[in-house]
Amino acid sequence: MNNRRIFSMDETYAEYVRDESQFTGEAKSISFPRSEEEIRSILRELREQGIPVTAQGGKTGIVGSGVPRGGHLMSMTDFSQVLDFSETDGKYLLTVEPGLRLTELKQALARLGGPVRLFWPPEPTETSATVGGVAATAACGIGVYAYGDTKQYFEAARVILADGTVREIRRGEHFLTIDGQRLDELDAFLGSEGMLGIFSALTLRLLPCTAEQWGIAFFFKTESEAWAFADGLQGNPLPPVAAKVTAAEYIDGESIRLLEERKELLSKLNNVPPIDPDFDAMVYLEIAGEESGIESMAEILMERALQCGSDPDRAWAVSGEKELEALRTFRHAVPETVNLAVEENHRNHPEITKLSTDISFPGKMFSQVMDWYAECLRDLNPAHCIFGHIGENHVHCNLFPENLSEQEQCEAWMRWVLREARGFGGCIARENGIGKVKRSWMPKDDAELMRMHALKKIYDPEGFWNPGNMF
Ligand SMILES: Cc1cc2nc3c(=O)[nH]c(=O)nc-3n(C[C@H](O)[C@H](O)[C@H](O)COP(=O)(O)OP(=O)(O)OC[C@H]3O[C@@H](n4cnc5c(N)ncnc54)[C@H](O)[C@@H]3O)c2cc1C
Repeated sequence: MNNRRIFSMDETYAEYVRDESQFTGEAKSISFPRSEEEIRSILRELREQGIPVTAQGGKTGIVGSGVPRGGHLMSMTDFSQVLDFSETDGKYLLTVEPGLRLTELKQALARLGGPVRLFWPPEPTETSATVGGVAATAACGIGVYAYGDTKQYFEAARVILADGTVREIRRGEHFLTIDGQRLDELDAFLGSEGMLGIFSALTLRLLPCTAEQWGIAFFFKTESEAWAFADGLQGNPLPPVAAKVTAAEYIDGESIRLLEERKELLSKLNNVPPIDPDFDAMVYLEIAGEESGIESMAEILMERALQCGSDPDRAWAVSGEKELEALRTFRHAVPETVNLAVEENHRNHPEITKLSTDISFPGKMFSQVMDWYAECLRDLNPAHCIFGHIGENHVHCNLFPENLSEQEQCEAWMRWVLREARGFGGCIARENGIGKVKRSWMPKDDAELMRMHALKKIYDPEGFWNPGNMF
């Protein structure tokens, strides 16, 4: 390779050919560009040699979409400056380079100063993820309950296409028609897993922070009590007060036990008290708004939790940024311990990868969906746990095979359950992507996949970007 920024792959870079799914790939070369010009110069050389490129962010993905399958690996983590901030008529926009990590974004927002404190609603819980990775997966955080889909918080993007041209794409300016449906061109790139082009800048839409925020964790002795409480959140509207529920997360008993067993491995949980082994489920809520509104809302929720069998005196309730962060750390420790368990099994059996559903069921009741999962899991032997968003019944069912035969059994279950879920009204690849882990599980006639095929033909017919992703 002539370009001094392209390095041959060797063991120094071993950590770059794996993500949190434990899927492991390979690459011939790697680069760490720091500017759009540098990216274009590297791409020019690779294109001339016919070498395909996989873009990579923070490697926190859980489907192997940023893991290369041959070709060149372009890590974006050194391309991470904050570029511009503007405010027009109450619209706050921040433009950043794609390698900026979410921790760095939070720090940058705190540094903005000004009379209004701002935040970026998507905030997927893994803060070492990059903004480019979030854009490419359209990942959602726990705030999805109140703030909705991630895509709407991107206002514009600069995208480098396979032929090296750079496009500035602004929301609402260009539309495509795919399968008879009108699609904003920006939304075509968001969630496309790096299959259409590489983001070189992203403009984020920010919102003003609310006056106060509280977090409450309710514990239940049976899962069905927690499901009834979640049903109430969905079906029984909360009265209008000067506050709203901004996050509603469900954590089942197996997830709690997994967390308790591995607590000592996560030093940040040192101060978290042990959870009574009698508890078999937990619902974590965040409430934001005016203090008086939050207090009224908390009272209503405590009353409802009590009616569903949860003792409000044993709930964990916190206010203030630091305390809330501690409770969020606890919530985040659930997927972290799940991933640790997968990593342990992967160490013993390298063919084991993360096996997790990512299905939402809009319009159904929570208990209906959990009953459906219970029925689907009835004859499956390997251990499993379930946690995730109560909104749209978007929980993740994680399986823990311990050997090759169980891995195969679980993969077969995944293929089967995705088809069953479609029949039950599910949207089967909601926030984590398809990548290289899930592609063989997906029904070939999936609408999202068909749409990606059509977009790939338009933007990257020669398959320059991310070989092996999705299809
Ligand atoms: C403990 C844990 C908790 C998590 N919680 C959540 C959660 O609550 N919600 C959720 O949705 N996800 C969650 N995730 C998954 C993960 O954090 C997200 O998918 C995240 O968006 C990945 O970002 P990344 O920077 O790590 O990207 P990577 O994993 O490196 O890559 C992901 C995709 O982005 C593409 N990409 C990266 N940068 C660019 C670029 N500049 N241009 C084009 N394509 C690019 C890659 O090619 C790849 O397809 C969690 C992961 C972990 C480990």
